[in-house]
Amino acid sequence: MVSQLYFDYNATTPCVKEVVDAMLPYFQEDFGNPSSSHHPYGWLAKSAVEEATMSIAKALDISTNSLIYTSGATESINMVLKGVARKLRSKGRHIITTQAEHKAVLDTCAFLEEDGFEVTYLGVDAKGLVSTKQLMRALRPDTILVSMIYANNETGAIQPLEEIAELVHANGSLLFSDTTQALGKVDLTDVLRQVDFACFSGHKVYGPKGIGLVYCKENDNYDALPSFIQGGGQQKGQRGGTINTPLIVGFAKAIELAYQNLGDETTRLKTLRNRLEEGLLAIDLSVSNSTSEQRLPNTVNVSFPYVDGVNLLTALGSQLAVSNGSACNSASVEPSHVLLAMGVEPSLAFSSLRFSLGRYTTQEEVKKVIAIVTQEVSKLRENNILWERRS
Ligand code: PLP
Repeated sequence: MVSQLYFDYNATTPCVKEVVDAMLPYFQEDFGNPSSSHHPYGWLAKSAVEEATMSIAKALDISTNSLIYTSGATESINMVLKGVARKLRSKGRHIITTQAEHKAVLDTCAFLEEDGFEVTYLGVDAKGLVSTKQLMRALRPDTILVSMIYANNETGAIQPLEEIAELVHANGSLLFSDTTQALGKVDLTDVLRQVDFACFSGHKVYGPKGIGLVYCKENDNYDALPSFIQGGGQQKGQRGGTINTPLIVGFAKAIELAYQNLGDETTRLKTLRNRLEEGLLAIDLSVSNSTSEQRLPNTVNVSFPYVDGVNLLTALGSQLAVSNGSACNSASVEPSHVLLAMGVEPSLAFSSLRFSLGRYTTQEEVKKVIAIVTQEVSKLRENNILWERRS
């Protein structure tokens, strides 16, 4: 068992005991296939999936018909972007997204570019926010889809989706938002009314890995997404393959638990995050990259000039689990594309760390992290000739 302080909850969260307990029967005694319609094993599994879906829909205040289970947010993003592109190809081939998306969106857009679509990548300001004026200029009659992250995984910046949704819909385009990091951290009721599609992931909300969701709003101008995985006709043919009863039950339980005290937990996390941020910004010359007013309660991204972020990660490694960007890129030596898009100097982007707090973070841990980071930054600077020579 690892004994590091865990400050990487945006990368993943532990699957909590209540969730594991809820899932266990469906691995063993209640192992039926929900599609087996001729015996009680199947009936029981089917009703467990139906109950889980109802529970998720109730928590999010959406229709049960608007949910499609996937293997995680990456698959959900692929399903929406490729599905809309395929379905609306004859209407237009232009897609708009931002430079600050998760790689799951950026790489899917790159794939679509190879397939004959044109993608406009909007820049973001120093707070990580998109300009609505820029969006207005980019929208065209052939724009079929706008894909805009809601809560940024690296900085926590939250986009003003209401205004964005109005512009996108006035243009007759569809709006997808990557809401992966927001689930269980902030209330999403309004957001889910504003967008046409969103996505979620079990392992970001203390649920199991390998389960996700597409939210596809029932829409007058647009019916269901086309089939993404063929075979078996499950999930109305949109995603074939045996439905994963235990993971769906676990995901529903995780969402139920997250929504039980969402307001209190948001407040608790905000207090801890502010304390951490204050402590880290007390380090000489350090700057916050999480300056958007609307932001996740658990995330703070800080640059420590005259320190190499990878060296800092290595130095902290035995005591503290943090990240220098998105989890998928944590071994990368490239500076974060999100920070670069915000106009952060590459050298400063290289010296940045993301701290993400979660359900088990305590005040004591925050204090320890401030002390550890302060000490390690100071040690690394002592060995940096540029630090000595700074004017
Ligand atoms: N989108 C965002 C904003 C994320 O933070 C992540 C995971 O880091 C993903 C998508 C991909 O999620 P998953 O691991 O479920 O594929």
